[in-house]
Amino acid sequence: IYNFSAGPAVLPGPVLKKAQEELLDYQGSGMSVMELSHRSSLFEDIITEAENLLRKLMDIPENYHVLFLQGGASLQFSSVPLNLAQNKKALYVNTGSWAKKAIAAAQAIPSVNTKVIASSEDKNFTYIPQITKDQIDQDASYLHITTNETIGGISYQEIPDTGRVPLVADMSSNILSNNYQVKDFGIIYAGAQKNIGPAGLTVVIIRDDLLNEQSLFAPMLDYRVQADSHSMYNTPPTFSIYMAKLVFEWLQDLGGVSQMVKYNQQKSGLLYDAIDRSNLFQSPVNKKDRSLTNIPFLTASDQLNQEFINAAQRQGFENLKGHRSVGGMRASLYNAFPLTGVKRLVDFMEEFEKAHGG
Ligand code: PLP
Repeated sequence: IYNFSAGPAVLPGPVLKKAQEELLDYQGSGMSVMELSHRSSLFEDIITEAENLLRKLMDIPENYHVLFLQGGASLQFSSVPLNLAQNKKALYVNTGSWAKKAIAAAQAIPSVNTKVIASSEDKNFTYIPQITKDQIDQDASYLHITTNETIGGISYQEIPDTGRVPLVADMSSNILSNNYQVKDFGIIYAGAQKNIGPAGLTVVIIRDDLLNEQSLFAPMLDYRVQADSHSMYNTPPTFSIYMAKLVFEWLQDLGGVSQMVKYNQQKSGLLYDAIDRSNLFQSPVNKKDRSLTNIPFLTASDQLNQEFINAAQRQGFENLKGHRSVGGMRASLYNAFPLTGVKRLVDFMEEFEKAHGG
């Protein structure tokens, strides 16, 4: 089958195989990787290697910490304003469902002065609004963007210049699938379950100077506590970190992020071309803001959409149903999704269109 899920998403076959081989006996220890103490030298090696690989893959400068946390990207919606913006201004760009959740979490903290400086809500979140430096209050503690809206299928092709205001990014659905430079961000965070590994792990990359000066009421949410304890303040999600390490190795063997971006451009290009050629399917998204990783498309009616989804599923195309909030279809093409799967889908879309008078 081909799994188009938006997350948890398909993992690379060789990674699953390696994990299977090592599952019962990790490197001759007689223990599963899930049974290793997080304080053991075997696990220390795993987490250190995972961090080193991610640093290499993303070219993370030395003045950034890499944290392996829990609570999903959703907990970061609260952690970011709690750490950075108490009694200060926090700026947001509203680009859709996930940006809205981040905004709502900041607004829920009374001591944070939350301001939305740009939005694409006027056109149902089908584009990325332009932001200029003049719109950005230089006293603000940060500007938050969602680099890829997983549901709406739009993404930033270029990162806005924010002057001296740190840029904070929810990169959950296009981390390791883009050409962004870490040095352009103050904080990057991402739930792992799309491009990194299984659910349960959240990666946070934070510039040193953004670690809070005063300790936060909740140590688990405190970036400085987590950085000082190297993500070991409590028991980290050991198995998910191990899997992430395997995914990073796989990605490195394939030539790293730049190779992956080319591969993803090829995959998404095939699908977008098919949609643009079609008289039955269409893309709801502004062309220049189209996501490489999440591709929504639809026909003229809900009924036909459902018919397509059912017929596709019978052929082994899983999880093509669009998010319940927007309907239609959505193909998520993260790094581990194979090109052959896109080719098959395109063929199937053409057959379906012919059968429906196209
Ligand atoms: N942000 C984006 C862009 C997402 O796609 C998701 C989940 O799909 C989230 C945040 C929420 O992530 P989590 O489920 O890890 O809290």
